[in-house]
Amino acid sequence: MSSGSRELRMDPTTRTWILVGKPPQEPAGKQAPEACPFCPGREGDTPATIAAITGPDGAWRVRCFPDRAPIFRIEGPFDRAGEGLYDRMRNVGAHEVIVESREHGRRLPQLSDAELADALRLIQGRVSDLHRDPRFRYVLLFRNQGPLAGSLIDHPHSHLVGTPVIPRRLEQELRWAKQHFDYKERCLACDILHQELRDGRRLVEATPSFVALCPFAPRFPYETWLFPRRHQHAFPRCAPDGETGLPGLAALLRRTLARIEHLVSDYHLVLHDAPNEQAERPAGDWTTLRDDFHWHLELLPLTARIARLQREEEFYENPVPPEEAAAALRAAPVG
Ligand SMILES: [Zn+2]
Ligand SMILES: [Zn+2]
Ligand SMILES: [Zn+2]
Repeated sequence: MSSGSRELRMDPTTRTWILVGKPPQEPAGKQAPEACPFCPGREGDTPATIAAITGPDGAWRVRCFPDRAPIFRIEGPFDRAGEGLYDRMRNVGAHEVIVESREHGRRLPQLSDAELADALRLIQGRVSDLHRDPRFRYVLLFRNQGPLAGSLIDHPHSHLVGTPVIPRRLEQELRWAKQHFDYKERCLACDILHQELRDGRRLVEATPSFVALCPFAPRFPYETWLFPRRHQHAFPRCAPDGETGLPGLAALLRRTLARIEHLVSDYHLVLHDAPNEQAERPAGDWTTLRDDFHWHLELLPLTARIARLQREEEFYENPVPPEEAAAALRAAPVG
């Protein structure tokens, strides 16, 4: 391995892919830049626009461009190789930034439902586009809000990462969803929704098309998941218009984030989507994916620095039971 390059290595004891090696030098260091590079008029400070949604005046409202300090490199093949029992490959992938508003310092609940729907439309278009690259097995959307979540720039933005490997947590979810389907011939998430809608104690809000709920065993206080109410395996399948589509999702997401921000200011938002079905993959994978997996958003509020037991051993402690969290979130204002 040459210095300055990184590669993916698989830990065979947990089947986790790890990005090993020194990261490339970042242009401005890992510090908040003095002038915000995401503000209108400073587009020249970022790489060129890949996609944008523009208003009637022709100016962008939502904008997407490659990250200046990408986690992965876009060019070249994987060069997947074995070394005895070990596996390694080059860190090929895509890393894009989506700026969700022209206005600096705005938070997602302060956007209008229509603005948030535009941001989701651009994100969905980018996910579908990255799926056309068969090198990417998974496209990861995440959003860090606040310093505890590691966000340095106070301008609303998300990250999109196309990777040759499936993130570990997703891999676990895919495996258990498939196993549930193999036993019961039903989608695990549909079963969860059915039970939670009947029970009601952990529901935050349900619309005719989407459901926000606190999971039975949450890792974080006020952790909330958002599902389409009717079975749908992949986010790109969500309709761009209408209450059953992205505008309906945007409205419930905005209200749910407003509730969460009333209680906790910092959080991660992550999309758990089906893997890229157009990717090269070993035969036999994902044979029932369309029936067994159900895409969703996870909102993970952060109230404290991560404890060692959780960080190193992935053993979570949560002082707020989800029944109490859901009651507090239901009572919180949505405006
Ligand atoms: Zn800004
Ligand atoms: Zn389902
Ligand atoms: Zn999930």
